[in-house]
Amino acid sequence: MAKLIDGKRISQEIKDELKEQVTALKEQGKTGALAVIQVGHDPASSVYVRNKKNACAYIGIESLSYELEEDTTQQELLHLIEKLNQDGNVKGILVQLPVPEHIDENAVIRAIRPDKDVDGFHPQSVGAMAIGQPGFLPCTPSGIIQLLKRSGVGIEGKHCVIIGRSNIVGKPMALLMLRENATVTITHSKTQDLKALCKSADILIAALGKPLFVTAEYVKEGAVVIDVGIHRKEDNKLCGDVDFAQVEPLASAITPVPGGVGPMTIAMLMQNCVHSIAGNEERV
Ligand code: NAD
Repeated sequence: MAKLIDGKRISQEIKDELKEQVTALKEQGKTGALAVIQVGHDPASSVYVRNKKNACAYIGIESLSYELEEDTTQQELLHLIEKLNQDGNVKGILVQLPVPEHIDENAVIRAIRPDKDVDGFHPQSVGAMAIGQPGFLPCTPSGIIQLLKRSGVGIEGKHCVIIGRSNIVGKPMALLMLRENATVTITHSKTQDLKALCKSADILIAALGKPLFVTAEYVKEGAVVIDVGIHRKEDNKLCGDVDFAQVEPLASAITPVPGGVGPMTIAMLMQNCVHSIAGNEERV
């Protein structure tokens, strides 16, 4: 039976550590706010935004909320970002993605000052990560590194296979695993013989966005399996990209959905905010 990698517990542990750090920073006179911008009223985005604001309240940092109408123009949004860039109290800026179609997502990401880019999506943050320079790390992949480390999973020298090459999960995940000295294979929708590649993984990370895609045939006995996917099934229950019932008996450790990778993303966002408030040069 696989060890369950408990993202809920580990994310709570991180938030409690951050809460103490925030208290200590306040004593040094270091405070600051996270500005959260949502354009439109997408219900899923509203849930994410609410969770982020709750996490700020929990660790003791201020959150500023900007709920903009669906028809907000790109210029209006960029103007707000620039105002927040200039505001000394604002230490982190986050625009909840996706933005409505009439707004260019890349222009929005580029507009956020890299030293307030707590999502880690700005090209400067991504470049810094690629060459091992200080900068904010994207929250989902850095959360997965924390999950592995805090669960006692060794990464160095292991073969890590990642399914998916998106800018927010797959690609940065590959870079971070490389930085931890794993041997990395990144796979995608055009990869040939995906099953055989996955079966050679010591650590398999599924981030392709297809419910229950990874079955027992993809998994080597004793592998560590990380499930990034999140989907709502017809019965309203959540599931991941991994068929947990099939894979769990084979794996040595596995993340559940919900309660695995999901809660880590917000914990790492809070970590980035605390680094920013502390004024850490080394934010990694
Ligand atoms: P995406 O759609 O941007 O990228 C999916 C990637 O998977 C692509 O690179 C594609 O090439 C690859 N892919 C698709 N079908 C494939 C196949 N059959 N075989 C191999 N590769 C295939 O998705 P994303 O934004 O990276 O998100 C992936 C999943 O993770 C989604 O379910 C998303 O909801 C979830 N997610 C969860 C969190 C979290 O905090 N838990 C954060 C981000 C994303």
